[in-house]
Amino acid sequence: MSVYNSEPPIYELSRTGKIGANLPALDVPAAALPPHLLREDELAGFPELSETEVIRHFTRISQRNVCIDTVMYPLGSCTMKYNPKLHEEAARLPGFAAAHPMQDQSLSQGALALMYQLQHYLGEISGFDAVSLQPAAGAQGEFAGILVFRAYHLSRGDVDRTEVLVPDAAHGTNPATAAMSGFKVIEVKSDARGNVDMDDLKSKLSPRTVGMMLTNPNTVGLFEEQIVEVSRLVHAAGGLMYGDGANFNAILGIAKPGQVGFDFMHYNLHKTFTTPHGGGGPGSGAVGCTAALAPFLPGPIVREAEQAGTYELFMPEQSIGRLKTFQGNFGMLVRAWTYIRTLGEYGLREVSETAVLNANYVRTQLQDLYPVAIDRICMHEAVLRGQIAGAQGIRTLDIAKRLIDFGIHPPTVYFPLIVPEALMIEPTETESKVNMDRFIAVMRQIASEAVETPAVLHNAPTNAPVRRLDEVRAARKPILRYNAEKFAELRRGE
Ligand SMILES: *Cc1c(COP(=O)(O)O)cnc(C)c1O
Repeated sequence: MSVYNSEPPIYELSRTGKIGANLPALDVPAAALPPHLLREDELAGFPELSETEVIRHFTRISQRNVCIDTVMYPLGSCTMKYNPKLHEEAARLPGFAAAHPMQDQSLSQGALALMYQLQHYLGEISGFDAVSLQPAAGAQGEFAGILVFRAYHLSRGDVDRTEVLVPDAAHGTNPATAAMSGFKVIEVKSDARGNVDMDDLKSKLSPRTVGMMLTNPNTVGLFEEQIVEVSRLVHAAGGLMYGDGANFNAILGIAKPGQVGFDFMHYNLHKTFTTPHGGGGPGSGAVGCTAALAPFLPGPIVREAEQAGTYELFMPEQSIGRLKTFQGNFGMLVRAWTYIRTLGEYGLREVSETAVLNANYVRTQLQDLYPVAIDRICMHEAVLRGQIAGAQGIRTLDIAKRLIDFGIHPPTVYFPLIVPEALMIEPTETESKVNMDRFIAVMRQIASEAVETPAVLHNAPTNAPVRRLDEVRAARKPILRYNAEKFAELRRGE
């Protein structure tokens, strides 16, 4: 059993009267609090513990959180690359960390200059004319994009467009975004080479087309070979091209989405540009677009002010509005700026070249045991299938759970939906060859276990803090507060 499970939960360690902090004796006259500030009922239900117990509890919890700083985390589509610690230092500089979002713009010139430069860098890297740093996540960037598409069409009196085209391989946020924006989602099929099926695309374009949401490289880890033609067709139907930039890590310094027909794109700064994913945030889903869409961008955006060398915030004339309080997740902008400045133009290109090389290395070393989804040179991630020849009753889920026993975070599984038993592996450029070789060796061992000792896989994980969880129940009926009775029930397996 794991050492993690040997300590009782913090509530069970509680003893009445124990305290973890001593306040100094009062050195000013005691003053009575005004009655409206006093509690009306007794403070109850908190555990009473020593400092040692509290520190152990929280440190233990922090170690349960599997992270890129402790293990390989080849989570396809999410680009879990190493987050350089230099960025943390930059984000903690008092001028940035202690800046108040309401302070006068004349006192925020350094922060505004950084935002202005980051807007410029992101625009340059992707071939777009304007950038807004507002959105807090890729999904929010998508929402911004589709609202901008709507605003653009309406501004031209083009009022009958109601359909957003989304490939069948797309990330779930794409159709969700289109639906949340009030549009109808029209699915477009993929062809046998993993590209958009051109005939299907043509049959679904119409005067009702708002636009198309496309990830390139796509969610099967492959470059859309006909991207220019796809864009041309969508534009010819009066639609706009939305680029889901989650896979930007494959093409930095190599291809610019703005030059192959995309009108709008989100960047996941917490994927491509090494700002931490955190526990669901804070992220940054900055967005870039063509000059034609720039007036509709969410704001505020930073521009040069009249006095040379100074900057100011402004709201684009026909902006869809704000998506986030103040200037978005500013600390993430500092980290992304630092990353871009540390690597420079050629460094960024090397990031993508190495990421693509690493994914292809892993693919070629595993594809004899784990069939590849589509047999093509992949981009920064390789989609394999957990269908091992000769293994009975083994699913991708079993393989993923077994990886946990080796201290490796499982890759993305069962996505994209069009690949049965998908295993989407993204080593990223920050994994060394030694680490990838270990991952490959472990995957090969798991493949032979699947044939020879399948029970090992079915029982996995055996050395993690928890065994297999009822993931559906955990998501649908989460227990977010400690409840002694509930915990006792769960421990007894009820
Ligand atoms: C991660 C991801 C998104 C959503 O981005 P968030 O920042 O998680 O909201 C959208 N599309 C793809 C392909 C992704 O991998």
